[in-house]
Amino acid sequence: MRLRKIKGADETVAASPYVIQRGALQHIDWKKLFGNDHPLHIEIGMGKGRFLMELAGRNPQINYVGIERYTSVLIKAIKKMEAAPLSNLFFMCMDAADLEQSFAAGDVARIYLNFSDPWPKERHARRRLTSVEYLKRYDAVLAPEGRIEFKTDNEALFDFSLESVKAADWRLLSCTRNLHQDPEMNHENIMTEYEEKFSAQGNPIYKMIACR
Ligand code: SAM
Repeated sequence: MRLRKIKGADETVAASPYVIQRGALQHIDWKKLFGNDHPLHIEIGMGKGRFLMELAGRNPQINYVGIERYTSVLIKAIKKMEAAPLSNLFFMCMDAADLEQSFAAGDVARIYLNFSDPWPKERHARRRLTSVEYLKRYDAVLAPEGRIEFKTDNEALFDFSLESVKAADWRLLSCTRNLHQDPEMNHENIMTEYEEKFSAQGNPIYKMIACR
């Protein structure tokens, strides 16, 4: 994704009470942070955060963490939180490759991956958030019954992700190649910014849910 650097974004993210400021190589005490022991669901590559904010508003009994790599994107989510704060949602500015530095084994009940960057070149396949390499990272932090939920409009990335699930010996719980026409899987679906854009262009949306 091409990004425009926003002046002051680094400073805003570093000072925001809605962003978890990470210590070096330190697992976070999530129960202490949220002040309860509710299950923790995370979104990786949350972008401007609309999906996660809507989800957190609907489910106060679940704690949410949104992970985004770029401050110039995260700053948009911070502005929304300033306008309508949610006590069950925090953001982190980090690369998902470092997941295991902040989350311990079993910490996470669910991982959402929405319209992840496709990294179309074969030599970049390991960077795809549904590669076997990333499934190993998710395995290291997911609870025993934990699962990933992945949506995309990119058929090649979806096929690659199905292959990864098989290669990593994970289980596919559900799968559709046209989410918006699938009443069961589309039930209570929350559209992300990218989902709205791509489905408006007539692209079908693919979704899978998988666990180990
Ligand atoms: N999920 C949003 C949506 O569906 O509207 C945004 C999708 S956008 C194509 C992908 C987002 O994931 C970008 O904001 C990008 O910066 C972020 N991202 C990509 N790779 C990441 C990584 N390894 N760690 C954290 N964020 C990442």
